[in-house]
Amino acid sequence: MSVIRSNSGKLGPFEASTDLVIIGAGAAGLFAGIEAGRRGKRVVLLDHSGKPAEKIRISGGGRCNFTNLETHASRFLSSNRHFAKSALARFTPWDFIERMSAHGLTWHEKTLGQLFCDQKSPAIIKFLLDDFEAAGGQLFLDTQINEITKPDDQFRIATSRGEIQTQALIIATGGLSIPKIGATGFGYDIARQFGHSIVETRPGLVPFTFSGALLERFAGLSGVATPVDIRTADKTEFHEAMLFTHRGLSGPAVLQASSYWQPGESISINYAPGKNVRDTLSDARQASPRQGMKDWLTGLFPARLADDILNETGLSKRMSELSNKDIEIMASRLARHEITPTATEGYRTAEVTVGGVNTDELSSKTMESKLCPGLYFIGEVVDVTGWLGGYNFQWAWASAHAAGTNC
Ligand SMILES: Cc1cc2nc3c(=O)[nH]c(=O)nc-3n(C[C@H](O)[C@H](O)[C@H](O)COP(=O)(O)OP(=O)(O)OC[C@H]3O[C@@H](n4cnc5c(N)ncnc54)[C@H](O)[C@@H]3O)c2cc1C
Repeated sequence: MSVIRSNSGKLGPFEASTDLVIIGAGAAGLFAGIEAGRRGKRVVLLDHSGKPAEKIRISGGGRCNFTNLETHASRFLSSNRHFAKSALARFTPWDFIERMSAHGLTWHEKTLGQLFCDQKSPAIIKFLLDDFEAAGGQLFLDTQINEITKPDDQFRIATSRGEIQTQALIIATGGLSIPKIGATGFGYDIARQFGHSIVETRPGLVPFTFSGALLERFAGLSGVATPVDIRTADKTEFHEAMLFTHRGLSGPAVLQASSYWQPGESISINYAPGKNVRDTLSDARQASPRQGMKDWLTGLFPARLADDILNETGLSKRMSELSNKDIEIMASRLARHEITPTATEGYRTAEVTVGGVNTDELSSKTMESKLCPGLYFIGEVVDVTGWLGGYNFQWAWASAHAAGTNC
C-alpha cells in the first residue's frame, strides 16, 4: 500500500507532476481516487490527518450507515434541489453495494431504507483503501497543504512534502463538523480563491439546545425517548423518535429538523402522531369517566414525560371532570407543542454542514468548476446535504463517481 505517514516533509516525496491530485482522504476523496485510478490516471491523494476516513470510522455508531435505498434528490437540501439528480442517478445505492459485496461485505436494513455494514465501519475503510491501492493510487497522510496556484494549465500545490503539479484537482475536504477529527474550512477557502461563492454554512443533523425553564424541564426528562412528528417553520415534517437530553432535544426527528432550522424559528412537536387527541379524549371521557388523566397519559408516554405534561397543563383530573376547554388544552399541548430552540450544539457534534460550494458554479454531471477548468468539488464541501440515514455517504460516493470518471 502506498500509504505514507509522516510529519517529516522528507519521507515520501512526490513525483514532480501527476494527472490528478485529490485533497481529503474521506469517503468522497478515496472513492474518486478509485474511479480515476481505474481509468489509468496517476492519482495522488493528500490529507493533513494521520488517519484516512475518520468520519466513516465513527459513522452510524461504528457500523457505517453507508447508503439509503430510498435515495432520491428530495432527500437532500441544496439551494438548487435539482443539482444532485444527475450524479445520484448515475451511481445508485446498488452500485455501491456491488462494490462492497465484491469484498465479501454484507449489510442489513435497519429502518427507513438505511443500510448498515455487518462487518462495521473499519471494514468499509479497508475495502476502499484496498480498491484505491489496486487502482494504483498513492495516499499521503500527515500532509499540510500550504498553497494552491494555477499560473498556467497546471495546478501547483505547495505542501509540507514539497510541491506537486497536476492537471486536475479534486477538493474533497468535507465540511466543518467535528473539528477535533480534522474538519476544516479549507475547501471553502480554495473555492473562494478560484472565484466561487459559498452558500452560507451552518451545522446540520445536530441536537437543539434550550435555556431557562425549558432547559430545566428537558434536563429533568433526560434519557426519555418518544416517537413524534416534528414540523419546522418551512413546513418540513419528520416522523421519528425524539430524545430528551441534559442540554435539550436530540434523536433522529430532531436531528432531521435541525438541518431545516434557522436561529429564532420555532418548531412544532406532535407527541401523538396519527392520533386525534381531541376525539380520543372525548371518547375516553364517556367510556372511562373514573380514569385519571395521569393513567391516561402514562398509557401513551413514559412516566416522566406523562408527569411533565400533566404538570404543565395542570389537568390532574378524572376524565369525568374534563371540560371541553380542558380537552382542547390537552389536544393542543400534545399535537402542536410550539417551542423555540435557543441554539444547536454546533459543529462540535453536528453530523454535517449545511451549505457549501454553490452548485450553480459546478457541472452537475462531472462536479467540475464552471469557473476554473480542471478543478472539481465533491462530497460534503458542496452545497448538497442529505437527510439522516445514509444519504450523506451516498452523495459522497455518487459525486466522487461523477468526478472520478470524468476528470
Ligand atoms: C458522528 C458522525 C456520524 C455520521 N454518520 C453517518 C452515517 O452513518 N451515514 C451517512 O451517510 N453519513 C454520516 N455522517 C456524515 C458523513 O460522515 C459525511 O457526510 C461524509 O463523511 C462526507 O464525506 P467527505 O469525503 O465529503 O468528507 P469527510 O469524510 O469529512 O473527509 C474530508 C477529509 O478531508 C480532510 N481535510 C480536511 N481539511 C483538510 C485540509 N486543510 N488539508 C488536507 N486534508 C483536509 C479530513 O482530514 C478528511 O479526511 C456522519 C457524520 C458524523 C460526524
